[in-house]
Amino acid sequence: MADISLHEKLIDIQQKLMEAEQWFELGNQYYNMAQTVEKENIDGDYLRELGCRMKLKLKQEDVARYHSNGIKRIEAFANKGACKSCVSNSGKTVAVSEAMTANLLPVRECKNEYGCRCCYVPVIE
Ligand SMILES: [Zn+2]
Repeated sequence: MADISLHEKLIDIQQKLMEAEQWFELGNQYYNMAQTVEKENIDGDYLRELGCRMKLKLKQEDVARYHSNGIKRIEAFANKGACKSCVSNSGKTVAVSEAMTANLLPVRECKNEYGCRCCYVPVIE
């Protein structure tokens, strides 16, 4: 019986997550893989970039939700323990109509193990 390689298993899991549009889980998987390959001194930047793209999809879903709820403006908010890049991005605001292309979040340069954990909060005027 042929053994399924770890690589094939991972691809299978990713395929299923993509079909289910589980962007959060998929993003974490990419960050996990980045950490794994970096332990073997292999550059994991492209995996982090993929993880970041999954997070971007999630953030765009949030923006769409705010848009459909009539929110006009949103603010980037950094959680407790966020990295320097996230803290300096925190508090920036953007019109919901521009947020899809402005991509204030996720913070690309984020140093968190699993990438940016910042979220959008509505600006109440
Ligand atoms: Zn960060």
